[in-house]
Amino acid sequence: MMATQLPPKVLEAIKEGLSKVDWEGFDKSKVDALIAEILGKVDAVQLHYLENCVGCAACAPACPYYVVGEEYGPVEKAEHARHMYRKEATILGKLLGPLLNAKKPSKAEHLDMLVELVYRCTNCGACYVNCPFGIDSGALIKGLLAPLVSRAGRIPVLMAVFEAAERKRVFMDIPALRQIWQDVMAKAEQALGKPLPYDKEGADYYLMVNLADAMFYPGAVIGAMRILDKAGVNWTLPKEPLAFRPPIGAVVGFGDSAREVMSFVNESIEKLRPKNVVVLDGGFVYPWMRFQLPKVLGRRPSYKVLHITELVVQLLREGRIKLRRTDDPVTWHDPCQLGRRAGVTKEPVEALRAASSGFRLLPHHGAESYCCGGGGGIGCLSMQMIEMMAKLMGVDSSMLLSGEKEKEFILKTQEAWSIAVKRKIDDVKKSGAKTVVTACPVCMHSIEGGAKLYGLDIKVVHFAEYIAERLE
Ligand code: SF4
Ligand code: SF4
Repeated sequence: MMATQLPPKVLEAIKEGLSKVDWEGFDKSKVDALIAEILGKVDAVQLHYLENCVGCAACAPACPYYVVGEEYGPVEKAEHARHMYRKEATILGKLLGPLLNAKKPSKAEHLDMLVELVYRCTNCGACYVNCPFGIDSGALIKGLLAPLVSRAGRIPVLMAVFEAAERKRVFMDIPALRQIWQDVMAKAEQALGKPLPYDKEGADYYLMVNLADAMFYPGAVIGAMRILDKAGVNWTLPKEPLAFRPPIGAVVGFGDSAREVMSFVNESIEKLRPKNVVVLDGGFVYPWMRFQLPKVLGRRPSYKVLHITELVVQLLREGRIKLRRTDDPVTWHDPCQLGRRAGVTKEPVEALRAASSGFRLLPHHGAESYCCGGGGGIGCLSMQMIEMMAKLMGVDSSMLLSGEKEKEFILKTQEAWSIAVKRKIDDVKKSGAKTVVTACPVCMHSIEGGAKLYGLDIKVVHFAEYIAERLE
C-alpha cells in the first residue's frame, strides 16, 4: 500500500509529526525561548538536582552508557542542563558566563551534541539510587534536555509520527495495526473458549491492553486474560486500545501531549468504574499510570493501578490461581521503570519462585539491577525498527527518516546500545538462567537483541505468558 492510500487522518498525523522534525536548522531565538520556558517551570526537586551536585562521580559506574564513553556519564550529560540554568536563571551565571560554565546552545552543532546525549540516557534511575545526595541526572536529561531538543526539531521521525498518531488517536486507522489487534483478540477468544468481556461496567479488574502490548507480546496479552479467567474474577478489557503506548509524548519530552493522552485514557477507564486497572507494560506506562496520572488529574483516579506481577501475587496468595511448579532455570529482569522507579521488585520474584524451583536472581537485581540499555526511546532507534514500522504502516521507510544526518544519529545510537547492553547480557550469563522473564517490550527487545549479538542462547518471555503457561 502506498502512503496515499492511508486514510486522510493518518496522513494528517504523519504530516503533523514530520512538521516538528528539523535535523539541520538552528533558530537561536526559538532555542532561547524554549530554554526560558522549560527552565521557568522547574520545581523544587529539579532545583535540588540542578544546584547540589558536587561532582563526586559516585553515580558514573551505575550508568549503562558510561561504559560507552566517559562523556556519557550521568553528570557529564546533566551538566548541559546546568550550563543553561546558570546562564538563564542565576545572577552570577549571567554576569560571569563562561567563567562559570554558564552558556546556552548557540549553533546547530550544539543541538546535535545535546540530542546525542539525550539518547545516551534510558532514564533508568541508576544514577539516582547511587548518588549520596539523591540527585537524579536522568530527570534532568529527560525532563529538561529532551523537551528542548525535541521541540527544537531534533526528534526522530518515527517518534514524532507515533506521538502524533497516539495523541490524535488515529493509530487504529492504520489497517495493519487494526489487523494485529483483531488477530490477537480472536486468538484470545479461542484460548478462553468464550467471548471476551469487553467494556463491562463495574468490573473488579480492567485489563489495560494497549496496541503496543498486542504488537510486541501477544502471548502476554492472551496469558493475562487466561490468568484472570482462571481466577474467576470479574474482569473486562477495552474493545479497542485507548492508546498505542501511553504516553509516547513523555518519552520525547512533549509534556502537553502526555497530559492530553493520559486524560483521555483515564476518562475512558473511569466511565466503566473498574475497581482496579491492571497494566502489562512495566516500562514507562506503569509509573505514568500510577504516579503521574494523579498529578495530571489533580486528584487520585477512581481505581487502583496494579502491574500484572502484583495481581498474580495477590491471586496466588488468595488461592485463586495455582501453578504447576517446574525446575526451569529462569530469572527475572527488573524493568527500570517498574523496579527502580516504581518499587515493584518483590512481587515478580515471589511469583516466579512459585512457578519454578530453578528460579535464581540475577547477580544485580532489584534497585541495583542493570539497565538493558534500550529505554528512553533508544530501543526504537534502529533501521530495522524503522523498516518494520514503515512496512506495517504501508509507507516507504524513507518517510520515517528525515535524511542522512538522522540516519547517522540512529546508527551511532545503535552502536552505543550494542556496547551498553553487554553488561546486562554478562549478568544473565553469570546467573546460568536459560529463560529471562521480564515485563517491558523494550527490555524484551533489548535483551533478545543483546543475547543474539553476544551469542547467549536464552529465551526472553513476558511474565504474563510465562505464568499463564504454568496455570494448574
Ligand atoms: S538515568 Fe540511567 S542512563 Fe540516564 S544518566 Fe542516569 S544512570 Fe545513566
Ligand atoms: S553522585 Fe550525585 S553528587 Fe556525585 S557526581 Fe553524581 S549526581 Fe553529582
